[in-house]
Amino acid sequence: METLPLGFRLKDQSCLVVGGGEIAARKVSLLVRAGARVTLVAPEVLTSLREQVKASGGNVQERRYLSEDLDHQTLVVAATDDQELNAEVSRACQQRRIPVNVVDSPALCTVIFPAIVDRSPILIGISSNGVSPVLARMLRGKIESTIPAAYGRLASLLGEFRAQAKQAFPDTSARRAFWEEQLQGPMPDMVFSGREQDARRHLQQALANPGQKPSGEVYLVGAGPGDPDLLTFKALRLMQQADVIVYDRLVSEPILDLCRRDAERIYVGKARADHAVPQEGINALLVRLAQEGKRVCRLKGGDPFIFGRGGEEIEELAEARIPFQVVPGITAASGCAAYAGIPLTHRNYAQSVRFVTGHLKDGTPDLPWEELVHPNQTLVLYMGLISLGPIREQLLAHGLPAATPVAMISKGTTAQQQVITGTLADIVEKLAGQPLPAPTLIIVGEVVKLREQLNWFSHD
Ligand code: SAH
Repeated sequence: METLPLGFRLKDQSCLVVGGGEIAARKVSLLVRAGARVTLVAPEVLTSLREQVKASGGNVQERRYLSEDLDHQTLVVAATDDQELNAEVSRACQQRRIPVNVVDSPALCTVIFPAIVDRSPILIGISSNGVSPVLARMLRGKIESTIPAAYGRLASLLGEFRAQAKQAFPDTSARRAFWEEQLQGPMPDMVFSGREQDARRHLQQALANPGQKPSGEVYLVGAGPGDPDLLTFKALRLMQQADVIVYDRLVSEPILDLCRRDAERIYVGKARADHAVPQEGINALLVRLAQEGKRVCRLKGGDPFIFGRGGEEIEELAEARIPFQVVPGITAASGCAAYAGIPLTHRNYAQSVRFVTGHLKDGTPDLPWEELVHPNQTLVLYMGLISLGPIREQLLAHGLPAATPVAMISKGTTAQQQVITGTLADIVEKLAGQPLPAPTLIIVGEVVKLREQLNWFSHD
């Protein structure tokens, strides 16, 4: 992190703005909104700016900046078009340890102004640390459009009940569960539609009958193939609600970063057969955590029901009568195919697609080979990298032409995605020259040819 976002309480604090133009005016507006007492220094000051400062109870000095202007200031903003003067103000502030912001010169700033979404008391600051303020502002636009204006009212109303809730639920996790339950129930809508009294009554009743301890549940969530943008809204919501995240090797770091910060994280998976925790252990763990009253997010790569053993996990939950939800995810086949420019079906090349596992049973792949060599069918092999040699032999032996195109996609959809293409005849040698990191998906079929045509924009 380049800087740490902190809230600066400026009410009734003295702030100096050096500069009298449009840019200074924008900073003055923000400072005034935060309740600061602004002193503005500049030889020439826009009339509207002068009036704004005066109306807010601040003062305007129409002259050049002097170093004494820094005396007793809590925060200083340099917003002139004179780079030397800006640098001088910055230097002087840094010497005196006064936080300083120089507009459009990140290197001269000790504090920066983020783009703000104001739903007071809720405030969202978005900063690119000066790298691209335009991008930060665009992002603000997006956030503005997804957070209803009434969020501020909702937050204020919740604030009214804070002390009462603390009394009713001294335990922090119980209290959090209470608020989450409330926020997912009908109450917020009452506020949004202007029925704040109903919302208050609703909260009062809920606090008067705190009920029993919330029961635990398990969310079996598909996290997609790697790119966090491929998560579903539901996945993200549950990831941010869960008390515990149980995840394995396929779940990428950027996705874990989106889970609730203070959730407990339990890692249960390693490469292939070398499971950090065996499957039975995972099943039992999910049951135990839920029985302790926790909301457990079992985060799995891709889709939980495609080579994910999701079925086994929920079987055990069902037996133990633990409530669960399954959230589908984008499976590796869809993600890799899309990001590599290979349509899995195509009117002219493939009318069906089969997902098979290359996982070895007693050292040999155990697959219905006759069915896999049909023409006009795309084969997608999960977990196929180590068994590529024997799989290729079987496919050839059962009549698939040696010229059949093959693509191998490593770490699909992530920034490290690599794609190697070849044919059944040469793919094994090609791979020998360029080993691919796991996870790797293999696509076999005529559709692979379309990559040349469709992937003109890609860099890999
Ligand atoms: N449930 C997962 C699959 C788990 S099996 C899903 O629906 O995608 C693990 C196999 O999935 C890996 O061996 C690999 O073949 C494939 N895989 C998963 N993520 C991948 C990725 N990002 N890139 C390439 N292959 C991937």
